[in-house]
Formats: sequence, structure tokens, C-alpha cells
Amino acid sequence: MPQKTKNTPMMEQYLSIKAQYQDAFLFYRLGDFYELFNEDAVKAAQILELTLTSRNKNAEEPIPMCGVPYHAASNYIDTLIEQGYKVAICEQVEDPKTTKGMVKREVVQLITPGTVMDSKGLSAKENNFLTAVLQQGERFGFAYVDLSTGELKAAQLEDEEAVVNEAAALQTKEVVLCSEIPESLQTTLTNRLNVVFSKQETLEENAEFQFLTEPLSQELEKVVTGKLLSYLAITQKRSLAHIQQAVEYQPDHALKMDHYSKFNLELTQSIRTGKKQGTLLWLLDETKTAMGGRLLKQWLDRPLIQPKKITARQEMVQSLLDSFFERADLQEALTKVYDMERLVGRVAFGNVNGRDLLQLKSSLEQVPLIAQLLQGINRGEWNDLLLELTPLDDLVALIGAAIDEDAPLQITEGNIIKDGFHQQLDEYRTAMRNGKQWLAELEANERQATGVKNLKVGFNRVFGYYIEITKANLVNLDTSRYERKQTLANAERFISPELKKLETLILEAEEKSVDLEYRLFLDVREEVKKSITRLQKLAKAVSAVDVLQSFATVSERYQYVRPTVAKKRAVSIIDGRHPVVEKVLGHQEYIPNSIVMDEETEILLITGPNMSGKSTYMRQFALLVIMAQIGCFVPAQSAEMPIFDRIFTRIGASDDLIAGQSTFMVEMMEANQALRHATPNSLILFDELGRGTATYDGMALAQAIIEYIHKEVHAKTLFSTHYHELTVLDEELAHLRNVHVGAVEKEGEVVFLHKMMEGPADKSYGIHVAKIAGLPSALLQRAATILKALEEHEPTVQPKPVVEESQQLSLFSEVSTEEIGVIDQLKKLNLLEMTPMDALNTLYELQKRI
Ligand code: ATP
Repeated sequence: MPQKTKNTPMMEQYLSIKAQYQDAFLFYRLGDFYELFNEDAVKAAQILELTLTSRNKNAEEPIPMCGVPYHAASNYIDTLIEQGYKVAICEQVEDPKTTKGMVKREVVQLITPGTVMDSKGLSAKENNFLTAVLQQGERFGFAYVDLSTGELKAAQLEDEEAVVNEAAALQTKEVVLCSEIPESLQTTLTNRLNVVFSKQETLEENAEFQFLTEPLSQELEKVVTGKLLSYLAITQKRSLAHIQQAVEYQPDHALKMDHYSKFNLELTQSIRTGKKQGTLLWLLDETKTAMGGRLLKQWLDRPLIQPKKITARQEMVQSLLDSFFERADLQEALTKVYDMERLVGRVAFGNVNGRDLLQLKSSLEQVPLIAQLLQGINRGEWNDLLLELTPLDDLVALIGAAIDEDAPLQITEGNIIKDGFHQQLDEYRTAMRNGKQWLAELEANERQATGVKNLKVGFNRVFGYYIEITKANLVNLDTSRYERKQTLANAERFISPELKKLETLILEAEEKSVDLEYRLFLDVREEVKKSITRLQKLAKAVSAVDVLQSFATVSERYQYVRPTVAKKRAVSIIDGRHPVVEKVLGHQEYIPNSIVMDEETEILLITGPNMSGKSTYMRQFALLVIMAQIGCFVPAQSAEMPIFDRIFTRIGASDDLIAGQSTFMVEMMEANQALRHATPNSLILFDELGRGTATYDGMALAQAIIEYIHKEVHAKTLFSTHYHELTVLDEELAHLRNVHVGAVEKEGEVVFLHKMMEGPADKSYGIHVAKIAGLPSALLQRAATILKALEEHEPTVQPKPVVEESQQLSLFSEVSTEEIGVIDQLKKLNLLEMTPMDALNTLYELQKRI
């Protein structure tokens, strides 16, 4: 009969620690394993494909258990983190040899999707941002940090939408909630971004955090950043010396795009695959360093709006374009630069090894060369960056002198510090080297004394040094000479007093030297740590150089031109190309198209057949704007455009089905964003708006939206449509122009010219496209007949220009007589004579009537 057992002291300890980490897998260290128990074990065994066993098999309630060897744990941890789980690492914090009873254990780190530091779990060209949100009244404090690079930023945001946009732009995987936030916001974050949530409501008061948050001007930013740092301190439990002083930012100080638009334009993620391939980032990324790759992505997320800054970047790109050979040398130097930002992070975090420091050194060695190359081509445009590119010779010298070129990955097993760096270490090493000599001599002597030719001196970890003699030779041996140590199948191992003495000498030197090396390594690490700020500044400068050379490389390869910033709100892009489509199709295949809108023209109404290139044309415009505003050159003969403050798009079918919204709903929400927030300096791209509903509803909405933009918004707008009826709007709306994509019909076949032309399209060619798609010919004939009949009976919809207020009301004119009565009574009420109670009663009555 199984016994109901009381928990063992170990299980008691486990349970009390687990209680503090409910939402994490607790990796509980037992000897050479991390063990998981109970539900953790059941779940982990399934996810990690581990064998599920149990503790106390015979008890009434055996405890499910599984484990992973500690030296292989990181792979398992990575898998769990990738799937959005958290892992608490619980170690023994006392030496079991010197402790009586239960060894004390503590969680030494909580690893979460937003706090991964291990390079295996991080992708080199992407940041891993952890964000924090705190609500106060209507406003939100928003902060984010990349623990691996130390970047820390904060902003104050006006509404939920802004929070979602920022979190989406950062592709954050974890959000730390620093206060209650609305349910709706949590749902959106979960559905759209699939984030994990953590909580941090308390604020740790500490001088370091005060320093880090000092540059922030708003109290709300300070608090949210402080809580974010508190969360890091509590979960990571180690030095955060590499976290940089917080930078305050305002989303308005960059070209703003909501996450729908970024997604639609495929800036960094392809709509189809979610990957980088086929995106603008993919096209522009010729960076040579991981840091450059990350910075490019950040620039793409926040294009500039300050003409001076844009011109400054363009000047640098121009200078690199003008200096082919220097650029080639620069690229070569950059390829030797490792991920300094993350190396620095690991220095502070304490998980840097000898090889990392060598990589840091090799990177630093490139800096003088990079600076010299830029100095050589500098006409003033590089002055600012050159100031930041200061070589850190002291660190290069230190690492060069201290760290062995063949340093191993481990930092606790020696062979990491160079000869000649430390006198005491050299002495131990001499003893160890001499020891080898002594052992060789001892072996020779013993061979001679015993006459056993194959006698050998060996070493193993368990028994230490020994003299080994094969069984065949034992018969002739004077056994009193040695003391027996170990018996093998065909040999005996012995020890002699002389060997014992040597062993002590050698092992002591070895042990002490390993300890000393470790201490020396930590000293070097501390020394490097003192230069963290300098290193981070340098890393940022090198990344910027890398992104700029990437722009120059791409601009040269695909023959881009330098855009000019227009003084007025006029656009003149002559023979522009969609950079990504061009890259995929090939330069020869792509038909260039101009986008010309003088100051007066606000709306281009684009008609043309399906598949003719309307969407491509619209996206082309947005991509050129973005490229210009990050400082890159653009694919065109020439380009002059104003600086845009925001881009709004409704392009393609980005159904938000996961978030439970229909295509049409998403379409209307995106339209709403644009209509409410666009300014005359914005760019709006509406691709076939109104298509997802009944024809007349769609057409009515499309027209009303065009009119609204024309009357109220004045943003530069490209509006493509299949509703030919709308093209007459140009008669009434002074700032609207019709353009169309050309197509010609040859023997019943349609040929797309992909060429933009003035005026409206004459036909839509929908059936022709259906034919290309291979629909049955009987069906196509039937469609043609129906079309003909429809066209003959079509009530000509004559769009009226601007909708007046009174007309708008008529949309809702089906009001009942009862409702009209209520309105009348409402009008007649004399509010000043009513008590609050009267008012309430009357309201109740009125409400009941309708
Ligand atoms: P629909 O109305 O069906 O959405 P569309 O008019 O928006 O179609 P796009 O999706 O822009 O058409 O383009 C269809 C295809 O035509 C693109 O995938 C591209 O391969 C090609 N294309 C578009 N523009 C050009 C161009 N300027 N030169 C060459 N090929 C082009």
C-alpha cells in the first residue's frame, strides 16, 4: 500500500522557490542536472521531448520530474524562450562540501523573451527589445531597453494606438506592465504582437537608476523607465553597468507610420512570409556588421523629418560614392568589426569570455583605419562622426598583452592569460612545464631500474599520477618498490613516494594557476568595464558609418539619384522605380513611372486594369519618400519632394483575421486613421478603398472620402479605384487629377503597359484578366454578355462634389414620428427651471418612448 509521504526538505525548498516564480519554468539545480518538477516537468517534457519520470514512485502521489544536464541547458532554455516562456535558473549558492543539511538555493536569473543575453538566442541583425508601459490618466509612459546592447529609450504617448504602434515597430516580445492597463490594449498587444506580459509595479530607489533616468524630462517617463530598470535588476540579479543613460524620444520627431502602414509597405517584414527577404530592408542591407544591420532597421523605423539631418546623411553617402577605393577599404575594415555593442553588454553582464575580448580587440584595431579612411575623403561632412571615432588604444594594448590568442571558451579552466602578463602565473607555469620534464625523467629512471621498457607514467582525474606496468611485465617486478593504486584488465597502476611528491607540486601549481588566471581575467574584464561608455559611443559611430556605406553601395549598384528636398509642397519624381520590384524583375524589365504633383495638386485618382501596376506605383511613392528621409538615394532619373510628416496606407489585403476583424473593417479603420490624423504635409495611399462592400456603398464611401480629403485634409493623396464613375470628380475638385495605367487590347488579348498616363482609363479589362488567369471560356463568354447588359442599363451615377451638412443628415432621415416627438420635447425643455431629479425623470421618460 503506497504511503502518503510528507514533503522532503528538498521538495519543501523547491516548492517555496517555485511559489515565487509561478509563471516561469523553474530549473532547479541538483548536482549536474537542472530538474523540473510537477506541472513544469509535465509541460517541459512535452515541449523539450524529455523523458518524464517521477520522484517517490511508490508514494500515493508521485512527483512528476524531468531534467536536463546543466552543461547542455542553454539549448533547452533557448527553445522555451523562443516559444514565449520564461525560465528561472535556480542554483546552489553554498558549497555542499562545507554545508551541513540542505544546501541553500536561489534563483540567480530569470530569463524571459525580452531579456535573452545568450548570443544563440539572439539574431545578430535584430534588436531584442523589452518594453514597459505605464498608464496615468489618459496618457501612457513607454520605455524600452535592449539588454544585449544597453540601449534605453522612453517616450510619453497619447493613446492606446500609439502604444501598439511603438511596440509593433520595436517587434517587442515582452511587455512589462507597470500599472493596470486597459483590457483592450492587452488584447491588442497579445493578438497582434503575440507578446508575453510581466509585471513590475514597485520602483526600486537607487542612485544608478536615478542617473540612468536623469535625461528624461517627464515624470511619467522617469517612472516607467525606473520600473523597467527595477524589473531588470530583480530578474537578472547582476551588473547592468552597460545600460546607457535613457534617451527621450518623441514619435512625432520622425516620419510617422502606423504599424498597418509599415506592414503594408513591407519595410522590414514581408507580408507573405513575415521574413526579411523581399522587403526594403532586405534591399538596402549591405551592412558589414551586425550593429550596422540593427541601426539600419532602426533608421527605417524612424525616418527623419529634419531637412538638415537628411542632407547631412546624403552628403556622407555622396562622399562615399565619390570615393570608390576608400569605400572598398572601408568595407573590408568593417567586416573585421564584431558586434561590439553586444560584446560590451556581456562584459558588464559578466558572461564574456577570452575569445569575446579578442573579438573586441580586433574590432578596436579597425577603428584607426576607419577614421583614417574617412579623414582622407572628408570635406567637412564627416566631422561629427570623426569626433566619435576615437581609437581606444589602451584597451587594445591591455587585451593584447593579457589574453592568449588561443583562449578557450571557458574562463575557469586556464590557458586564457598570456605568458609574461603576470609574474606569479609565469612561476606556476614554469613549475608545470618543469613538472613535465621531471615526469619524463622519472619515467626513464624507473624503466631503467625495473627493466620494464614499456613502463609509463600517466595521469587521470580520479587517481592522479600513476606508473603503469602491463600484466606481462609484472612477474619480474619487485612489488615492494611501488604501492598498488588501480587494477586494469591488462595492467596495474602504481604510485611511488617520489611520484607522489611530484604530483603534489604539479597539481598545486596547476590548481593555483587556474585560480589565478581566472582572477586575472576578471581584472581585465573590470578594466574593460570602465570603458563601457566610450565603447558604446564608438560602436554607435561605427554602425552609422556602416549604414551609410550600405546606402552608397546600394545607390551605386542600382543607379539611384540623390533626391532634393522641395521647398514647396510639390513632388517631381521623374522616371521613378519601385526598388524591390525592380530588383526582383531586373532593371530592364521594370517600366519607370513619374510622379508629378505641383503644389496645387493634392489627389491623383488612379484608374486602370487589374494587374496593371497601380499598387506598385503607389508603394513606389511611399518607398521613395522613406528612402529619401533616411538619407539614402532613390531609384529615379531625378527626384524632388517635400518632407512628409506621416504616411498612411490602405494597400493590399492585410486582413487582421487573427485580431478578429474583417477586411472591410480593417480598411475602414485604416481610412479613419488617415482622415483623422493626416496633415497637409502627410502622404495618403488608398488602394481601391471601398471594394470590400456592396458596389454602391463602396462607391459612395470612396467618393465621400475623396471629397473629405480634398476639403479638409489636403494631404498629398494617391487614390486608386475601379469605380470609373469617380473619374468625373476632376470637373468639380480643383486639386484632383486623373491618371491611369495604360493597357492596349490586341486581338482580344490585353497587354499591360505598366505606364502611367494622364486622364482616366477607358476600360477596366477585368474579364481579360480573368482570361489570363485561365477561367473556363464558357464562363468568360457569359461574363462578357452580362457585362454588356449591365453597361446598357447602368444608371449613370453622377457623383456630386462636396457633400453638404444637410445632405449628410438625410442619410439618416428614416426617423420615426415618435423620435421626432422626442426631439421636439427636448427642444422645449426649460432646463434652468428643473431640479436634477426632474431632469433625470424626464430623461428616463424620453428614453422609454424611443
Ligand atoms: P490590382 O488592381 O489587381 O490590385 P494593380 O494594378 O494594383 O492590380 P500591381 O499589383 O501593382 O497591379 O502590379 C501587378 C504586377 O505587375 C506586379 O506584380 C509587377 O510584377 C508588375 N508591374 C507593376 N508595375 C510594373 C512596372 N512599372 N514595370 C514592370 N512591371 C510592373
